[in-house]
Amino acid sequence: MPITRLAPSPTGALHLGNARTFLANWLLARQNRWRILLRIEDLDGPRVKKGADQQAIDDLCWLGIDWDQGPFYQSSRLPMYQAAIRRLIDSRHAYPCVCTRSEVNTAASAPHAEDGATIYPETCRGRFANPQQAATAAGREPAIRFLVPDGIVPFTDAFCGQQQFEPRRQLGDFVIAKADGTPAYQLAVVVDDAQMQVSHIVRADDLMDSTPRQILLYEALGLREQLPWHCHLPLVVGPDGRRLAKRHGDTRLASYRQQGVPAGRVLSLLARWCGISLAHEPKAASDLVGKFDLSAMSRQAIVFRDEEDRWLRGR
Ligand code: GLU
Repeated sequence: MPITRLAPSPTGALHLGNARTFLANWLLARQNRWRILLRIEDLDGPRVKKGADQQAIDDLCWLGIDWDQGPFYQSSRLPMYQAAIRRLIDSRHAYPCVCTRSEVNTAASAPHAEDGATIYPETCRGRFANPQQAATAAGREPAIRFLVPDGIVPFTDAFCGQQQFEPRRQLGDFVIAKADGTPAYQLAVVVDDAQMQVSHIVRADDLMDSTPRQILLYEALGLREQLPWHCHLPLVVGPDGRRLAKRHGDTRLASYRQQGVPAGRVLSLLARWCGISLAHEPKAASDLVGKFDLSAMSRQAIVFRDEEDRWLRGR
């Protein structure tokens, strides 16, 4: 059976942009009879906010978005990630790196990715025999980086069509475990999606360039046959074109909920962003099942404007 996942990061409250993606994912799942699991991506220790997991659950329930399995917490699955990291080191797909962030940034040769992120200059590639040796030589614990091979990684995105990346040149060797041992997002997501047999991934297109990294991880872990179907949706942005965030005002679902805004009104806006036209305000997400058509969704970023906030709040 096809399986998808809702994967909130409890580093902050869900806002309208997150909600749009979860709604589209949920509608695709319910319309196509995919199983839905809820996975709380709570590995980013310092950024995880206490209670944000429960709040995300409450917010989803408020909209009528449900799931069939979970919640699963990444923080309770550390041994699985550690085993994968060890496998990648042993098979020479990953290596220890003792560079500090500022060393990476100031390396004279460090080229920059298109989005301005620094591409790791491969300083520690082939430098140490193993993580212990790196730790002894540098006097600090190493991070672990994936050794990105040469070549092109093509894939088909269900919404955006054919994609092609040259990861070594465009993205560089990426971190799969931080120096404190915490598995990085790219690694944890692949281990989980493969183990949980996730076959369908729906997320916003700010994660498009994570997909080639994740494909490389599937391959290195011998999981090629399990590669999921990908669908990346245009991001919700503020009037300045930047990803929806605090600077655009308080667009947390909890804020509307606490102010007494009906869930149906929020769903009306989210439905419009999903390309659904409605005669009546829905009561719950289930009223939208059968109405979502991926091909009717805007190809451009969705712009959230102050008027919409005022409309939601009835001002
Ligand atoms: N937890 C991630 C986020 O909130 C989503 C990861 C994914 O869909 O792969 O951005």
